[in-house]
Amino acid sequence: MNLGRDNHTELREAVAALCKQFDSAYWQKIDEARAYPEAFVDALTKAGWMSALIPEEYGGSGLSLTEATVIMEEVTRSGGNAGCCHGQMYNMNTLLRHGSPEQKKRYLPKIASGELRLQSMGVTEPGAGTDTTKIKTVAKRSGDRYVVNGQKVWTSRLQHSELMILLARTSPFDAAKKSAGMSIFLVDTKSKGLEMKPIRNMVNHETNQLFIDNLEIPAENLIGEEGKGFKYILDGLNAERILIAAECIGDGYWFIEKTTGYSKDRVVFDRPIGQNQGIQFPIAEAYMEIEAANLMRYKAAGLFDAHKPCGAEANMAKHLCAKASWEAANVCIQTHGGFGFAAEYDVERKFRENRLYLVAPISTNLILSYIAEHVLGLPRSF
Ligand SMILES: Cc1cc2nc3c(=O)[nH]c(=O)nc-3n(C[C@H](O)[C@H](O)[C@H](O)COP(=O)(O)OP(=O)(O)OC[C@H]3O[C@@H](n4cnc5c(N)ncnc54)[C@H](O)[C@@H]3O)c2cc1C
Repeated sequence: MNLGRDNHTELREAVAALCKQFDSAYWQKIDEARAYPEAFVDALTKAGWMSALIPEEYGGSGLSLTEATVIMEEVTRSGGNAGCCHGQMYNMNTLLRHGSPEQKKRYLPKIASGELRLQSMGVTEPGAGTDTTKIKTVAKRSGDRYVVNGQKVWTSRLQHSELMILLARTSPFDAAKKSAGMSIFLVDTKSKGLEMKPIRNMVNHETNQLFIDNLEIPAENLIGEEGKGFKYILDGLNAERILIAAECIGDGYWFIEKTTGYSKDRVVFDRPIGQNQGIQFPIAEAYMEIEAANLMRYKAAGLFDAHKPCGAEANMAKHLCAKASWEAANVCIQTHGGFGFAAEYDVERKFRENRLYLVAPISTNLILSYIAEHVLGLPRSF
């Protein structure tokens, strides 16, 4: 089946051909060993897909966000887990849109060639949770550097990245201007003053607690203007949400194709289970939800590429795609009966991997509250 593949055909075929080399056995082995898919990420980098968003003048492929979402969609659709590599795509965007010409000249060619990875972003803190304005990590200017102290949590891909984007307060919290006074920095992850502790979690996702003790960052590694970091991060988060939406779409089609195939083959009571409407209808319904959610993904990506406001669409795309693919995941595991729980079918792994997207990078309630307040004009609740 080739559902939803009626655009960007050449790009899709090229990415799908690469992904084909990393089959179900590869991902099962990586998942079982809780390992990082180094060979896969290397291949993706060498083929130029990890630098899709870097302009050609810096050695990248200069593709649009829409095209980048197609790359991520093909990764999850192939049965792979994009959590190992999507960070580079959206972190890159923060550097591209807000970094200085010197920063771009210094880092982008090395990121494009694969010499450096910018896979990590440290925003979430244990004490602040979703309320990012309450972060406690502080960066104090001292001569030609900033000295940073604090703690982050869920900082992903840190062990497999040379660079990280770090959000810290550069001015104290002001209730009248909550989101002001935060700044973002480009940090060398091997710097003195950083200690990481891996978090064992439900999916094979390399993510960490991060303790920051007198970390020194050269002042030239500040991205954009001091105090405006939250705005820059939000801009990057729109890209992140749209990319994740596309990953969910890839998952969604994977679940639909897997469950459709199984329903045709599995014979119980002397007929394929897919002959029963009780099996067909949930699959048809999940498929329709994915098709509909996919429209919002393309709308959001198009607005982002046109540099138009896309906060509402990025949030709606992430929400609708995560919900639709989770529905497909549930249908797929149910259709597989007991075999849905056997690792060799990949369904239980993809089921776990997909569930994450209703929580991270932003959880459902926060999206609903954004739409209620900022689009529908309902009273602010927090
Ligand atoms: C595997 C994984 C990888 C991650 N990677 C990264 C990363 O690389 N970098 C990074 O910075 N972060 C990362 N995160 C963090 C992620 O973005 C957060 O977990 C997520 O945003 C939710 O924040 P929280 O866990 O602190 O939940 P909390 O803020 O504690 O919220 C808990 C629950 O309460 C709900 N809630 C909170 N306030 C309200 C309200 N006012 N009304 C209604 N409901 C509310 C939330 O929606 C949520 O369901 C990762 C998380 C995971 C699990």
